Amino acid sequence: MTTTDSPKTTVPGLAAVRAEIARACRDAGRELASVTLVAVSKTFPPEAIEPVIAAGQHVFGENRVQEAKAKWPPLIAKYPAIALHLIGPLQSNKAKEAVALFTAIHSVDRASLCEALAKEIVKQNRRPTLFVEINTGAEPQKAGVLPQDADAFLATARDKYGLTISGLMCIPPLEEAPGPHFALTAKIAKRNGLTLLSMGMSADFATAIQLGATHVRIGSAIFGGRH
Ligand SMILES: *Cc1c(COP(=O)(O)O)cnc(C)c1O
Repeated sequence: MTTTDSPKTTVPGLAAVRAEIARACRDAGRELASVTLVAVSKTFPPEAIEPVIAAGQHVFGENRVQEAKAKWPPLIAKYPAIALHLIGPLQSNKAKEAVALFTAIHSVDRASLCEALAKEIVKQNRRPTLFVEINTGAEPQKAGVLPQDADAFLATARDKYGLTISGLMCIPPLEEAPGPHFALTAKIAKRNGLTLLSMGMSADFATAIQLGATHVRIGSAIFGGRH
């Protein structure tokens, strides 16, 4: 193959992930369209990302604002259909850049961040889809709202800061079975009337789809290992 070949390329990892998502949806009796694949391109350069775009993938996830800002504006200019999701922790002082660049933010987890986001959403008149991150394993090193604080936090985000929160996100502890963490996240979303669930990564997305994930965040299964 040369670079002058047709732009309709295939990426083996992407094709395999799509097939697996389709199978998980069938097994769960869910519509394929109810699950959005967020291709996590963190650490990978534009040369690795462009073939994935050419293969028809338009939703991408990055975990750092600075890296995304350095990498994505030229790609978005070239492919205007791209939707970029922030899946990693966000500092309040980067809320401005995040609101400008991302169409969804999966990591809302502090009142100070709610305040900063609310201000930028009004100022820039841009409304990224917002997810609150739940620290389902109560891991001290991990970001996110504790499960027992989730209802109060969601009420504060809505009533005090005027934010529309659309869903919840979680990252289960590495060493535990993910199912109970996905189920807990789904339960908190349901009782708060939230319809979106960002859960499932390369190793566990089929389980996440079984338990209601609407957004699966998949990196290494598409792009290969990170160094
Ligand atoms: C890196 C990352 C992913 C993707 O992980 P893979 O195991 O490579 O699929 C998903 N979610 C978050 C928050 C990440 O930081």
